Amino acid sequence: MILKGINMEKESRMIAFGPVPSRRLGRSLGVNNIPPKICSYSCIYCQVGRTPNMQNIRRIFYTPDEIAQDVEKKIREAKQKGELIDYLTFVPDGEPTLDINLGNEIKLLKTLGIKIAVITNSSLIWREDVQIELAEADWISFKIDAVDQNIWHKVNRPHGALRIDKVLQGIEAFAQSYKGELVTETMLLQGHNDDINEIAKVSDFIAQIKPDKSYIAIPTRPPAEKYVVPPTEKVLNLAYQVFREKSIPTEYLIGYEGNAFAFTGNVEDDLLSITSVHPMREDGVREFLTKANADWGIIKHLKRKKKLVEVKYNDKKFYIRKFK
Ligand code: SF4
Repeated sequence: MILKGINMEKESRMIAFGPVPSRRLGRSLGVNNIPPKICSYSCIYCQVGRTPNMQNIRRIFYTPDEIAQDVEKKIREAKQKGELIDYLTFVPDGEPTLDINLGNEIKLLKTLGIKIAVITNSSLIWREDVQIELAEADWISFKIDAVDQNIWHKVNRPHGALRIDKVLQGIEAFAQSYKGELVTETMLLQGHNDDINEIAKVSDFIAQIKPDKSYIAIPTRPPAEKYVVPPTEKVLNLAYQVFREKSIPTEYLIGYEGNAFAFTGNVEDDLLSITSVHPMREDGVREFLTKANADWGIIKHLKRKKKLVEVKYNDKKFYIRKFK
């Protein structure tokens, strides 16, 4: 989609969308405060394609009133349909902190009595104004795919004026005083940032900022670059174990957003649900099966059907849901 100007952008898209079910945020009403696709990164896995409008300067896209009016309209419509909203989430097809009005928009939307979430690529968090504005949000997700400059350049393809050390320092400084819920998201890509050394370095950094939760993600939608592929289940398990060894509360985001933790009483479904969030160690699986009055045959069946994968870490067996 090629856009020529802000007016056309405004006409061609809605600002608020949803609410959509989100494992992380419950029922989330999305706020698209940036026209597509204006970003400070051009991640090789981006589901919106390459970034034609690479920017690192904050500017006006919409007025806070325009944003608030559109969000209020969506909230009214959702209420009429009896739909609940847990979060108003800034999650545009670009980087939300490029919006110079973000702070005012957050303040305005907070008056609606619904919690505010922001999903950011972290690139501008070294700026004092961005830190002050994000401090008003209730929930923030920081993207941390790499801490090594070369890997960051290969995976996130940042705007040329950005520096990884400043981004990391900004996250650290912000995390020290932030009162809301802070989560991180790390997208793992085979052959790019799934090397044990980089996973260890990324987890060291994340452990230091003590997030409420750290998500390890894999690309689940068509990426900007065809060569992008997810890591193997073995590496995904390894990353989880390395994160957990550093006491980081870790979960997967591997493409089963809708049904994780939705316990059904059906042993097969529930096992798949749990293993889509984190690997289960063999003894944990046995305990689960005993409680559910089921036997190991279910595991064999799920492995045969290629729904569950067995991987080893430190001589122990783990079970992880096979990706879609
Ligand atoms: S930061 Fe997000 S929107 Fe920007 S290129 Fe990366 S994945 Fe796409």
